[in-house]
Amino acid sequence: MYYGEASTDAWTDGRTYIVITDSAVTSRQRAVWMHDLYLVVLHEAAHETSSRDRPSHGHHFESTYRSLVEEPDNRSSFAKLVQQVVDEGFQSMFKKYEATLRFE
Ligand SMILES: [Zn+2]
Repeated sequence: MYYGEASTDAWTDGRTYIVITDSAVTSRQRAVWMHDLYLVVLHEAAHETSSRDRPSHGHHFESTYRSLVEEPDNRSSFAKLVQQVVDEGFQSMFKKYEATLRFE
């Protein structure tokens, strides 16, 4: 996952990476933008091909996206992550999951 600058919220090559931009979030409030990012990541994960130019959002995409959003494992992982961030802050979460910020 990468951070990028563009007018779109996010895009993916459909296989190896997802790029997220500042416009993906609607609020500066942590709880809100974590949820925004959760949905954006699942949206891009639902794309099986590149979403860079004219991505298709047909029936197949919709049902894949919906099943990712409703997947109990995804919901509980997200709930757990939010709780950890609330309890311990972002810095320790970055460390714990060995996340580093990369720029596209
Ligand atoms: Zn899309």
